[in-house]
Amino acid sequence: MVGTAVERTEVVVIGGGPAGATAAAVAAQRGRRVALFERERFPRFHVGESLIPETYGVFERLGMLDALRGSRFVEKHSVQFVNERGVLSEPFYFADHKPQESSQTWQVRRSEFDEMMLRNAARLGVEVHEGCRVLEVLFDGAGSEVRARGVRVQDEAGLVRTVEADVVVDASGQGAMIQSRLGLRDWDQELRKAAVWSYWKGATRGTGRDEGATLVLQLDDKQGWFWYIPLHDDIVSVGVVAGHDYLFKNRATKDSDAIYQEEIGRCPGLIPRLEQAEMIESVRVAKEYSYRSRQVAGKGWVLVGDAFGFLDPLYSSGILLALKSGELAGDAVADALEANDLSAERLGAWAPDFIRGMERMRRLVVEFYDGFNFGKFVKRHPHLKGHITDMLIGDLFNERVDEIVAPLDEMRREEELKRAATANG
Ligand SMILES: Cc1cc2nc3c(=O)[nH]c(=O)nc-3n(C[C@H](O)[C@H](O)[C@H](O)COP(=O)(O)OP(=O)(O)OC[C@H]3O[C@@H](n4cnc5c(N)ncnc54)[C@H](O)[C@@H]3O)c2cc1C
Repeated sequence: MVGTAVERTEVVVIGGGPAGATAAAVAAQRGRRVALFERERFPRFHVGESLIPETYGVFERLGMLDALRGSRFVEKHSVQFVNERGVLSEPFYFADHKPQESSQTWQVRRSEFDEMMLRNAARLGVEVHEGCRVLEVLFDGAGSEVRARGVRVQDEAGLVRTVEADVVVDASGQGAMIQSRLGLRDWDQELRKAAVWSYWKGATRGTGRDEGATLVLQLDDKQGWFWYIPLHDDIVSVGVVAGHDYLFKNRATKDSDAIYQEEIGRCPGLIPRLEQAEMIESVRVAKEYSYRSRQVAGKGWVLVGDAFGFLDPLYSSGILLALKSGELAGDAVADALEANDLSAERLGAWAPDFIRGMERMRRLVVEFYDGFNFGKFVKRHPHLKGHITDMLIGDLFNERVDEIVAPLDEMRREEELKRAATANG
């Protein structure tokens, strides 16, 4: 069914996840007219339950803190690493490094959290249309003159309509509509991972401020790691991340349930924690190669969250990056409309700093997969523990943390020499 009416607004946002809800809410707070189209009806399932403290500033700006404090989400105070022998290393407590309210964050059920964010955006003036799929982004012109002018959307009754806008914000998640349409995706060849996960009831968790700790548990052969994220209602999210080929190729079984159980059996730190627990949902699988768009904005369009780039979930940075890019892009859109300048430069002005922050996190991710040992690093460079904690908190957007780069390089060189010596007998 094709509707004839053409609607007009200032800003169209594709997708109502954390990135879209934030970009839309910020632009609306700045007085712009914003229509957000989300193909699902919320609450809907989503993976990615662990927040990191630097999300606090965005929550504060959006007026979300009271709702979060009043929620049933489990409080998170630290990240803890469990090595391949099942030994817990010294925890990284966020408040020990920065004793402030924002050092405590939450472990969230995404169905509930994303709905809170979306309803909050509506409260701030965003026109939210759920059950409305964006079919395509409409562009005018050709080559470098190409410019977004709106979207075609289809509602649940099948009615298709055109919505014209000055700016289109793509927050469509890993589907990344504009990135795919314009062929802008660069896959990260070093981070070709996959995840297999499920939810457990009755699993062992810490007490006191350790109750909501995220655990990162190594497999016995260091081929991958498990996340262990305690949620409310005595549920724990437990998932393995490893190379795609390791998980799915050269296995006797192709059954994801069997693969999941095999990997649990290879994780000495996990086995005792699940002994008394019951798996309460079927196993889910995600291919999660990291990627990034070559361009963050063009004339009349800008990308946020996973629609711009996805970084391995090792340090739970996805929602922070979604919120941060959403906030920065929301402001850039409002600035661009005020200046009547909808150029790529203006809409993407925030990106260079943001990408540097992502790169810092990426370095720490790659080091971990190459065998980086947090305990050893901190023992050798105790004065840099604060920098590592900064990065785990998500304080990525300042040059101070770059002081860890030279010591990381040094440790990497040593490891390489050691490996070479072992290989040469
Ligand atoms: C295995 C795994 C574990 C993770 N763990 C964590 C974690 O612990 N902590 C963390 O911070 N991050 C984690 N992440 C990352 C995190 O989930 C994402 O980075 C985050 O959801 C990105 O938010 P977003 O708003 O960009 O995209 P999404 O949350 O995916 O939202 C996109 C929205 O767009 C909608 N949409 C898509 N296409 C259309 C369309 N055509 N029309 C209308 N609507 C559309 C979708 O329905 C969806 O609601 C994990 C990711 C994976 C894969």
